[in-house]
Amino acid sequence: MPQPSASLFPEKLPAAVPVLLPLPLAGAYDYAVPEGLHVEPGSFVVVPLGPRRMLGVVWDRPPEAGLPNIKLRPIIEVLPAPPMRPALRRFVDWVAAYTLSAPGAVMRMAMSAPSALEKPAIRAGWRATGAGTGRVTPDRAKVLEALAEHSPQPGEALPASPAVIRGMAKAGMIEPAVLPQAPRFARPDPEHPGPPLSETQAGVAAALRQRVAAHEFSVTLLRGVTGSGKTETYLDAVAECLRQGRQALVLLPEIALSSQWLSRFQSRFGCAPALWHSELSPGIRRDTWRAVAEGAAPVLVGARSALFLPFPDLGLIIVDEEHETAFKQEDGVVYHARDMAVVRARFSQAPCVLVSATPSLETIANVEAGRYTELTLPTRHGGASLPSIEVLDLRATPPERGRFLAPPLIEAIEQTLARGEQAMLFLNRRGYAPLTLCRTCGHRMQCPNCTAWLVEHRAQRRLQCHHCGHAEPIPPRCPECNAEHSLTAIGPGVERVQEEAALLFPDARRLVMASDNIPGPAAAAEAARRIEDREVDLVIGTQIVAKGWHFPHLTLVGVVDADLGLAGGDLRAAERTVQLLHQVAGRAGRAEAPGRVLLQSFSPEHPVMQALLTHDIGRFVAEEKAQRAPDHWPPYGRLAALVISGEDAVETARVARDLGLAAPVMAGVQVLGPAPAPLAMLRGRHRHRLLLKAERGIAVQPLLREWLDRVAVPNAVRVQVDVDPVSF
Ligand code: ADP
Ligand code: ZN
Repeated sequence: MPQPSASLFPEKLPAAVPVLLPLPLAGAYDYAVPEGLHVEPGSFVVVPLGPRRMLGVVWDRPPEAGLPNIKLRPIIEVLPAPPMRPALRRFVDWVAAYTLSAPGAVMRMAMSAPSALEKPAIRAGWRATGAGTGRVTPDRAKVLEALAEHSPQPGEALPASPAVIRGMAKAGMIEPAVLPQAPRFARPDPEHPGPPLSETQAGVAAALRQRVAAHEFSVTLLRGVTGSGKTETYLDAVAECLRQGRQALVLLPEIALSSQWLSRFQSRFGCAPALWHSELSPGIRRDTWRAVAEGAAPVLVGARSALFLPFPDLGLIIVDEEHETAFKQEDGVVYHARDMAVVRARFSQAPCVLVSATPSLETIANVEAGRYTELTLPTRHGGASLPSIEVLDLRATPPERGRFLAPPLIEAIEQTLARGEQAMLFLNRRGYAPLTLCRTCGHRMQCPNCTAWLVEHRAQRRLQCHHCGHAEPIPPRCPECNAEHSLTAIGPGVERVQEEAALLFPDARRLVMASDNIPGPAAAAEAARRIEDREVDLVIGTQIVAKGWHFPHLTLVGVVDADLGLAGGDLRAAERTVQLLHQVAGRAGRAEAPGRVLLQSFSPEHPVMQALLTHDIGRFVAEEKAQRAPDHWPPYGRLAALVISGEDAVETARVARDLGLAAPVMAGVQVLGPAPAPLAMLRGRHRHRLLLKAERGIAVQPLLREWLDRVAVPNAVRVQVDVDPVSF
């Protein structure tokens, strides 16, 4: 084949490289590499963008790349940071393609500490030069003595005023020196003695260790009833990963509620792991990012965004409570961290372990199809038995008028408290009452920005929208008919259950656990400590209390409204309710004393109640499958949602209609809608939804891309793509 003649090109071409910027742009931009500057794919570089300077990453040249262009603007600077590894770059590209996001928007999560990179963490101090022309005054002598003993030292640690130090520097007696970084991340010790594992645990742990030692991609479901000791077992796999000298990543759904988990880690490995979540201070964020990149953080525990950290040698990913919807990121790049963890593990040639007592149907389907393997811990650790579960039929034994706790539940709480044990009441609803109604005209207090009722928060004397944050004082009169003292609270929230409990059990020490009074990790840890130390008799809480807590003295769990999650048309409602209630029930009777769970329900015959009652999740899964599989609902088919939103009702509806008309037509593909989205109005924006459902073998991304290309969308309207939506 004829080669292009060299004479076609000017003599000295600046090499050009594509640079991906952390912006929601289509792709990478080309920049010239000035002579003498060494860059490679993955290098962190500072480049000009318009009038700004911006940090980006040298990306990989696509094979069809064009000719270098002399007019390209040059790279300004290469940062002394380890280049982003190919495994992470491939992962970024893959997530972008899968979620239909701009690669730059995904890469932004992988940079996540841009300012930190621009200013490498250097701390300045002083050291003696052994020379200089100045007179050695008594003050100066003290400084030289201190530096002789320990050097370098920060200025503020020296026994002299800043003026003296400045004078000494001027005289050449001392000079600036970089202080060594204090290692912030201790090395967890894999040989630190942990509790001896039971025989079953040991068998499962050995299988997990084998997967870690194999240095190969694999996915394992670690399934075990609540309290079976899953954590202790997978920590053994983390130990193996440390012995292999590779890094381990543990994803937890809510780091803020993980104080007990962290102290277990501490006692297993003798030190704390590195942490990653949205509330880290910028300094710690920067240090953590660097420590991960340099391999100095052997174990990192994080929220979903930790998947995008620059691990050079990832050897294991654990996703604990893999069924949790908290792993789904709903805005910006819409992705499910459980699924992306599997992809990250694949690019890193590492095993991924998904952990749950009630795995998602997705994961179960993957096990059934042979894509994932399964390991099980069938019994509770230490001979504790699973709690006994009863459904309280509210039609047969209703609560008193205006109350929410039925007599058998009240009696059970009394007995539990009398035995000196702890009880818990669960209601997944914040505030005092979910609905405020005018008794005179029937008017319901609604959010001005959302299709949602306002929730009364009595302690603050306010009505709040739980979707947009709108809040207003409780009005003295009905805004519709002007009637006085006519607005009435309808239905219970945790505050109202607490009010009833105060009447019924005045001597019990009560604690409410809801996001309103547990704002962060410190408050959650303190609440957990109070329960552990038996400073509390009765816990009343929202889904916060359903997390993996281990409270040995808690023996009774009452679910105030077991039907709550089943309302609404969401196909996944039953699955989620089983998972949540099973999880709450699992808080009862985790030590010697047996646990008891009472579910208040108006529909005891519902398959969800039956599944919980019989502990037979398998049968429930089979029934769900029988319902979903014939119509190819996930996980037996693929699903993507388009949510069309805008402030202008007419324009938004028009775009939704246009998209509906342009929908792909193909065998095995079905498009549903447009229809009002589950929240038809949110933050003042009208929302419509289209669902694309396809049989499993069909890749939906190309269909979605072509579909979106066919319709012009005005700037004021937004179309958000959600591949694998969690509710449908
Ligand atoms: P799961 O994660 O399956 O709900 P956990 O790992 O929280 O279960 O274990 C339940 C309780 O049993 C915890 O208090 C844990 O410390 C304890 N435990 C588990 N395995 C062991 C073991 N091998 N030795 C001693 N205690 C254990
Ligand atoms: Zn609102």
